Amino acid sequence: MRCPFCGAQDTKVLDSRLVSEGAQVRRRRTCNECQERFTTFEVAELQMPKLIKSDGSRVPFDDEKLRQGILKSIEKRPVSIEDVETAIARIKEKMQATGEREIASRWLGEAVMDQLKRLDQVAYVRFASVYRSFKDISEFREEIERLESGNPKKEA
Ligand SMILES: [Zn+2]
Repeated sequence: MRCPFCGAQDTKVLDSRLVSEGAQVRRRRTCNECQERFTTFEVAELQMPKLIKSDGSRVPFDDEKLRQGILKSIEKRPVSIEDVETAIARIKEKMQATGEREIASRWLGEAVMDQLKRLDQVAYVRFASVYRSFKDISEFREEIERLESGNPKKEA
């Protein structure tokens, strides 16, 4: 691994240990050229299914895009970042659990709404209103009523 300080190719691992309950390996390294020390983390890269958009095109799953979408919907809501990360982890687990190599982006949207509904109902309605692009206030009201009756609509 290249030294981030001087760019030298030759670095040496001083110490490796498991962190995050074994989900990551932390390595202390030193550069043979400049002697600087730095740390790297190693995590397993899990294969996420690709997303099939409504126009039929395929795009790679994007963690950050998902996070931004969720963060936007919880703005000024009493939801912690930890809860958001947990929700993202659950969504990804669900995606992997399908065993599919490709998944409709609509499926992902529903999975996000499912998580948001548990976290915060305002965030849920915000996300749903963007995602389902409610045409007018009556559609919006219908969704709220569904929410109140505890019987959310399953499809857009
Ligand atoms: Zn160096």
